[in-house]
Amino acid sequence: MSTMHTVLRDLGIQAVNSGGSTGSQWWSGRNDGSLLSSVNPSTGEQIAGVYPCSADDYQRIVKESVEAFRAWRMVPAPKRGEIVRLIGHALREKKDQLGTLVSLEVGKIKAEGDGEVQEMIDMADFAVGQSRMLYGVTMQSERPTHRMSEQWHPLGPVGVITAFNFPVAVWAWNAFVAAVAGDTVIWKPSPKAPLCAVAVQQICNRVMQQQGYAGIFSLLIAEHPALAEQMVQDERIPLISFTGSVPVGRRVASMVGQRLGRTLLELSGNNAVIVDQTADVDMAVRAVLFGAVGTAGQRCTTTRRLLIHESRYEELIGRLVKAYAQVHIGNPLDKDILMGPLIDHMAVEGYRAALDEIKKEGGEILCGGHVLSRPGYFVEPTIVRAQNRWPIVQRETFAPILYVMTFRTLDEALAMHNDVPQGLSSAMFSNDVRQCERFLSAAGSDCGIANINIGTSGAEIGGAFGGEKDTGGGREAGSDSWKAYMRRQTNTVNWGTELPLAQGIKFGS
Ligand code: NAD
Repeated sequence: MSTMHTVLRDLGIQAVNSGGSTGSQWWSGRNDGSLLSSVNPSTGEQIAGVYPCSADDYQRIVKESVEAFRAWRMVPAPKRGEIVRLIGHALREKKDQLGTLVSLEVGKIKAEGDGEVQEMIDMADFAVGQSRMLYGVTMQSERPTHRMSEQWHPLGPVGVITAFNFPVAVWAWNAFVAAVAGDTVIWKPSPKAPLCAVAVQQICNRVMQQQGYAGIFSLLIAEHPALAEQMVQDERIPLISFTGSVPVGRRVASMVGQRLGRTLLELSGNNAVIVDQTADVDMAVRAVLFGAVGTAGQRCTTTRRLLIHESRYEELIGRLVKAYAQVHIGNPLDKDILMGPLIDHMAVEGYRAALDEIKKEGGEILCGGHVLSRPGYFVEPTIVRAQNRWPIVQRETFAPILYVMTFRTLDEALAMHNDVPQGLSSAMFSNDVRQCERFLSAAGSDCGIANINIGTSGAEIGGAFGGEKDTGGGREAGSDSWKAYMRRQTNTVNWGTELPLAQGIKFGS
């Protein structure tokens, strides 16, 4: 593993970086705005600075993206796929360095930082295959000598707004599929992880320059929401793919809705695991530990609620509390560390406030519950005996707090499970095939993701990823998610000499 200095150098990160780019021929310059500081959450120290984009930079980026789209949409999709393949290859070469930068900038342990880059590589491979499979269907016409079919066309520039906690992978989920679909992409990353975005843009720029393209993948780092909102309201951008919290997602959706644009929303989760009376407790403990403590509880799919059959409560909680005590917390780049810091001071305050509210409600803290007194933003992973209806349990606190509750019947468990505003990921541990099928049935979990005998987090890219209710309804990554990035056109061709109307309508002579 490389040191911070060599990692930054290998990824082209300077002490001060530009925050806007449309390709290697153009990076934005210094502007009057303040320098955005990228802070290592393990130490609270600055890693490097970035100049956010100005309003003029924004106009330039959108203009180039619109112009590049006109040419890119006419490049055959498999050729677009070939370029994404080369970007995937470039990412393979920088996997170690980029994985380390993810750890440095957002505090994920190294294995998870590398895993995130692997996810980008997997998405590139997936998109390359998809580039030859942008299938339309044919339909049987009710009229003689008519042929009906549908085809999928590129949509236009796509605005991709991403959250801090997946600072590179979420861009790849969107950007690679959008690119093979023939769209150009303008990325507005989280200001909490600007260096990851600059590094990815550098990698992309090199490949695109070698291939003779610019303006396909652009970067728009903004310090304040104003510029992002300008993009959200911009009619030149037909699709805004937004990943983030429910309140911001709601605002983005209503702004895009005002102009009748499209949104793809990937918002907060409040994910539960149900452990029934037949469950394999060994597996459940491991899955809940990874789901609740991994990424310091800062995944959209983090396990936040654990619903245990009352007959298994003592056994499962006893084992979990022991497992929590063995979690090493510290510098995410050190071996043996399982949990790094929260992203910033605000996140620590959110953890503290949640615990205050839990105590007021009468929640029993079974383990954890403290902010660590050391540099950086470290907290203890926490387990709380709680009640599902408490407002604090109904909300997503982006921290490692697990709420546990018990149930007697599966009906009771399912009612509790679905009784939250969010609907992202869910899991059930059971060896009873009837209970499992019930959980997966139309009357079972109401989430976009429902798993049996694996946890709520760590989805594979081959499936469509996303959730229902307040999670926003969007789907990204695998399956037929590519359709969100294209426009569908229904074609009817009359190859005869008559002009029959549909539904047998006679009009005129
Ligand atoms: P956030 O909502 O604070 O920010 C997300 C992005 O929106 C950032 O890029 C931010 O700069 C931008 N933004 C802020 N205000 C904006 C505005 N008014 N208009 C347009 N953009 C604006 O979220 P966060 O704290 O970065 O990330 C954590 C949240 O993201 C959690 O709720 C988590 O569940 C969610 N998330 C969801 C998924 C998913 O796929 N469902 C994946 C990762 C994270």
